[in-house]
Amino acid sequence: MFAEVAVDFPDTHARTFTYLAPPGMAVVPGDLVWVPFGPRTIQGVVFGLVEQSPVEETRPIMQRVVDGPFISPQRLAVARWIAEHYRSTLYAACSMMLPSGSQTRLRHWITRARAPEAATGDLKPRDLRALEYASADRRIRKDRLARRLGRGGAAVVDRLVRRGYLAATAEWERPRISAQYLDIVVLAVPAEQARAEADDHRGGRSQRRAELLDWLATDPPGETRSRLAKRFGPAAVKAVLDSGLARLERVHMDRDPLRHYAVQQQFPFEPTPAQAGAIEAIVAAVTATEASADPARFLLFGITGSGKTEVYLQAAEACVAAGKRVLVLVPEIALTPQTLRRFASRFPGKVALLHSGLSDGERFDQWWRVRGGDYPVVLGSRGAVFAPIDNLGLVVIDEEHEWTYKQHDQSPRYHARDVAEQLCRETGAALVAGSATPDLITFRRTERGEYRLLRLPRRTTPGSLSETDPASIGHAGVRIIDMRDELRAGHIHMLSRPLIDGMRDSLNAGGRVILFMNRRGAASFVQCRDCGAVRGCRRCDTSLTYHNASGDGSPARLVCHYCNYSVQAGRACPACGGAQVRRMGPGTQAVADAVLDYFPRVNVIRWDSDAARTAKDHIDIMERFESGESTVLVGTQMVAKGLDIPAVTLVGVVSADTGLAVPDFRAGERAFQVLAQVAGRAGRGRQGGQVLMQTFQPEHYVIRAAALQDYEAFYRTEIELRSRYASPPFTRLIRLMYTDPDPVEAQGTAVEAAKAFRHEQSVSGETSVEVIGPTPAFPLRVRGMYRWHIVLKGPRPEALLDMAPVGRGWITDVDPVSLL
Ligand code: ADP
Ligand code: ZN
Repeated sequence: MFAEVAVDFPDTHARTFTYLAPPGMAVVPGDLVWVPFGPRTIQGVVFGLVEQSPVEETRPIMQRVVDGPFISPQRLAVARWIAEHYRSTLYAACSMMLPSGSQTRLRHWITRARAPEAATGDLKPRDLRALEYASADRRIRKDRLARRLGRGGAAVVDRLVRRGYLAATAEWERPRISAQYLDIVVLAVPAEQARAEADDHRGGRSQRRAELLDWLATDPPGETRSRLAKRFGPAAVKAVLDSGLARLERVHMDRDPLRHYAVQQQFPFEPTPAQAGAIEAIVAAVTATEASADPARFLLFGITGSGKTEVYLQAAEACVAAGKRVLVLVPEIALTPQTLRRFASRFPGKVALLHSGLSDGERFDQWWRVRGGDYPVVLGSRGAVFAPIDNLGLVVIDEEHEWTYKQHDQSPRYHARDVAEQLCRETGAALVAGSATPDLITFRRTERGEYRLLRLPRRTTPGSLSETDPASIGHAGVRIIDMRDELRAGHIHMLSRPLIDGMRDSLNAGGRVILFMNRRGAASFVQCRDCGAVRGCRRCDTSLTYHNASGDGSPARLVCHYCNYSVQAGRACPACGGAQVRRMGPGTQAVADAVLDYFPRVNVIRWDSDAARTAKDHIDIMERFESGESTVLVGTQMVAKGLDIPAVTLVGVVSADTGLAVPDFRAGERAFQVLAQVAGRAGRGRQGGQVLMQTFQPEHYVIRAAALQDYEAFYRTEIELRSRYASPPFTRLIRLMYTDPDPVEAQGTAVEAAKAFRHEQSVSGETSVEVIGPTPAFPLRVRGMYRWHIVLKGPRPEALLDMAPVGRGWITDVDPVSLL
């Protein structure tokens, strides 16, 4: 028997190599194995087994990691699609599906094999020593054996394994799935009876017993015996338990990333008619017994607050009830705690969390538990699409337009929505993508019948649930403020007069205010007033961004947002020595300072990636704002997402224009998404609220559509423009980037590659692909590397790449989300 193995080797093709599967090793597809590759030993994933080898000489697989297979046949098919579509190696695609942090947790064991003693004649002294060590123990860890042999020991061991003198096995270090349990005290009798019993004890020596009973009778969140003993005294707890009024209940406590969230079970809402229709359509697809010809793909389209999450929850519930599992993808866990909290409280103890913020150990454990089927619901950021969930019934992609779903910084440069589509195709699961501002590509696919459009037309805020009342469409009033008028009137402050008035009214009425600062392309930098020099990064062609002194006393710094280089923000100009270095350009800090100009006594809180680095920081900031400790929140893109606070009565957009001038074919889409989401932040409570958008371009179609929260108006103009300029979705792009520390080399290689493409075109007559460039990337230099790119544009741009493949050192990004 032979195995087709995808090996961990930087290849330019998505291909497998054939190895002999030794009898007795019981290799199956999806197994992780060690194979010889040239002089080395490397990892591979078995893709398939064949009776006949297509090549004459094959070498045997050296070892198989026990406890496999790790990748199901369906997921192997997805991996193959990823490798081919995104042009990565098969192994890179598979590696996403292996237990995370796995490399460090794989243990290799060596045993003495039954090789013929007589054949040891040609062995060197070190080989013999290795055999001796290996014989002494039943088995020995490979790294330990290699260390005892001294320098190059690992190669010695590999050679002996290859020649059959030693046998190797690999297994994962056992995940630490020692489940923890808590003893929760719960009432064993109805609450009225407990209160009556409490009355019997009141006042006397058993007063604390009465207090405990009262507490238990108020339907509290679960509390452990030991915590109650601390609070009410051990004697009271014992007495109540002994009397049979309360009992202990063992609950499973995960070493759980959800532990920061107080979870209380919540029950479904009665769905509105629109929600009911959506749920019904999704559930029908989830529970369909025969495969339907139509793809079970849905776009759930509704403004923020229209009840999309409730639809996901109820569809998920039906899916779980049908014995299938649910995968929920969110753009970024830290930014969507409310979604997470709602899933956790609807499915207490049943939600696994998978995201990049977990420690390696947590992620490794979660992987095994998900694989073991411990959780009916798995929630995570884009990488969770690779989680080993079997019996998948439903995949939800919340905020499907978000760019974080595309992995852009390493291979494979996949989009989680596209991977999810393949996964659903293979597993028969239904796919629900939801958004208030869908990706233009997804919305167009509803028009082409590739996705089914489910609309939620209205907000579900309390008091506006009536679907017939036209006033209940429910988005807040948005007012555009023409900043040119402000300038003409001589008001040159960052905050316009109407915005200042609006803030005053809101704050006086006890409301909360959010000021939104789109920081894309608008970071604050420092410039010398004497010589004009702007402080730039030494390794990147970009200016450094000013970061204010932080609360913990560290001084202000200048930071490069491309490479993280940072220096203390000195007073003197390093170029001319002048002392007039000033901060330019708006940032959240500048906005916060501007607020204090007019409202010196309000507590302003900033929310951006500097102020909040960890998930805990995000929660803290949100809680401080929710609780009213801070009444004005100044934030970047982060405030646009998932912040659902009824007390917010005013949202000010400091500059709606930032982002519009960005030279990228999706700049308009991006700007619209952010502005429309921010506009959706106001008026979520009974008090209603308004949004004020400051702009110098009040007639711009993006600004007007965003102010009206009218996605379809935006869509019609934008799709028309895309069609006119033949941008995606009317064509496809592949972006190729070459980087080199030497600027001449970088440009030269890029020019050569473009020449090769054009030559290939003239030879083959392949004219459907347009070759754009090479052009310098923006910024040209990052981390000391010069970057040039070439864009291939056409209905099948990979056709040209197949004819003239680029070599090593090129980064290939298929269907890039941006050309910046
Ligand atoms: P979205 O995900 O579209 O932003 P949500 O599902 O979060 O919308 O719903 C917005 C708010 O309305 C939430 O506070 C939610 O609890 C509430 N809600 C959702 N559906 C209903 C319903 N059918 N009846 C009453 N309230 C609802
Ligand atoms: Zn830099």
